[in-house]
Amino acid sequence: MTAGPAIVERPYDAAQVRRDFPILHQEINGYPLVYLDNAATTQKPECVIEAISNYYRRDNANVHRGVHTLSDRATHAFEQARKTVSRFLGSPRPEQVIWTSGTTEAINLVAHSWGRSTLRKGDRVLVSWLEHHSNIVPWQLVAAATGAEVVPIPVTDAGEIDLAALASLLDARVKLVAVNHVSNALGTVNPLADIIRLAKAAGALVLVDGAQSVAHWPVDAASLGCDFYVMSGHKLFGPTGIGVLWGRESLLEAMPPFLGGGEMIEQVSFPTTTFSGLPFKFEAGTPNIAGAIGLAAAIDYLGTLDREGAAAHEAALLARSLELAEEVEGLHRIGKPAHAAGIFSFLLEGTHPSDVGMLLDQQGIAVRTGHHCAQPLMERLGIPGTVRASFSIYNTQEDVTRLFEGIHKAKRLFA
Ligand code: PLP
Repeated sequence: MTAGPAIVERPYDAAQVRRDFPILHQEINGYPLVYLDNAATTQKPECVIEAISNYYRRDNANVHRGVHTLSDRATHAFEQARKTVSRFLGSPRPEQVIWTSGTTEAINLVAHSWGRSTLRKGDRVLVSWLEHHSNIVPWQLVAAATGAEVVPIPVTDAGEIDLAALASLLDARVKLVAVNHVSNALGTVNPLADIIRLAKAAGALVLVDGAQSVAHWPVDAASLGCDFYVMSGHKLFGPTGIGVLWGRESLLEAMPPFLGGGEMIEQVSFPTTTFSGLPFKFEAGTPNIAGAIGLAAAIDYLGTLDREGAAAHEAALLARSLELAEEVEGLHRIGKPAHAAGIFSFLLEGTHPSDVGMLLDQQGIAVRTGHHCAQPLMERLGIPGTVRASFSIYNTQEDVTRLFEGIHKAKRLFA
C-alpha cells in the first residue's frame, strides 16, 4: 500500500492576517505602526468595516416592529448575529445571548438585576484582586444598596488567584464569585475549572468576565459550568458599543428587567406592565443593530482562521518578549503567572510608565500605560502602574523586535 500525499500543515501566517486590517498599514510619527494595545481594543478587519457600512448603505431600519422590507432585513441580520454569537459561545439557545453595550454593561445588568433582587444583608460577593474596575464597582454599588459585602479574593505575588484563600473564603454567605478569565493587567489565565468547582461546591454562582479571553481562543461558555459569561465586541475585532451577556437560562428567566422601555415589554398599562421573554426582556430601547452585525462579521472572520495556530503564534510573541526582557537590565516584568495570554506588563527602573509609553509612540509603537483600570491590583503589587504591550493575531516577531528597540532607546534616554 502506498502512502497518500503528505498533508502539509500551513503554519499560521500573521503577515497574511495583517493584510486584512487596513489600519495597520500606516506610519505613525514617521515609523510603520506597531499596534500593541490590543487588550484595550483590537483593530477591525476589512470585512467587519464592510459589514457595518453595507448595513447602513442597504438595510438600515429599526428592528422587530416594522412591516416593511428594510425592517425585515435589519431584523433578520440582527437575529442572525445573535445566533452567530450563540454558536461562538457554545450556548444551547440563542435566547441566552443578551446584547449589551459591552462587558461593563453586561456586568452591571447582572449586578443590578440578579444582585438587587437576590442579595441580602450579610451576603457576600467574592471578586479577585485581579479584576478590572468593571467587575468591582457594579458589585460595590449593589452591595451599598442591599447590605451585602464585596470581599476580595487574594492573589499571589506572581499575580495568580490564591485558590487556597478562595477555598477558605467560600461559605454559605457567598452568593456569587466574579472573576475574569484573563487579567487585562497581567495576562494571567485564571484556573476557571478549579474556581467554578470550588464556588459550586459552596453553592455560589459564578460570573466570568471574558473581555480578555475570547480573542485568544475559542470559549465554550456553557460547558465551563459558569452561570454568566460576558464579553465586549471591540476586543474581538468587532465594533465598539456592542457586547454580550450569556447566562444560564433558568437564571435569566428568573431575573427582573434591568432597564425599562420599548422592546422589553409584552404589554404596558398604567395599572400593570408585563415583560417580554428572553432575550428581549433585557434589551430595552433600540439596540446597536450595526454593532451586532459587525460583531457577527468579526466572529465569521475568526472562523476562517486557524485559531490554534493563532494562539500558538501569540504565545510565541510573548515568549520572545520574555526572552528579550531578560537581556534588559532594570526591566521588571510585573506578575509572573505560570499561564499567561498575550500580555507583557513591565516597569523600567528609573522611568515613569507614561514617559516610556510616549517615547514608544514617537517611534510608532502603541502600548498602554497606567493602572489599566485595575487600581486594587496595582495597590496589591505596590506599584503605580505598568507599561503594557498586548499581542493579537496580526502582531509579528518584527513588532516584538521594534518594541525592544524602543525599550532600549527609552533606557538610554531616561534610565
Ligand atoms: N474586563 C476586562 C478584563 C477588561 O479588560 C475590560 C476592558 O479593558 C473590561 C472588563 C471592560 O470592557 P468594556 O470597556 O468593553 O466594557
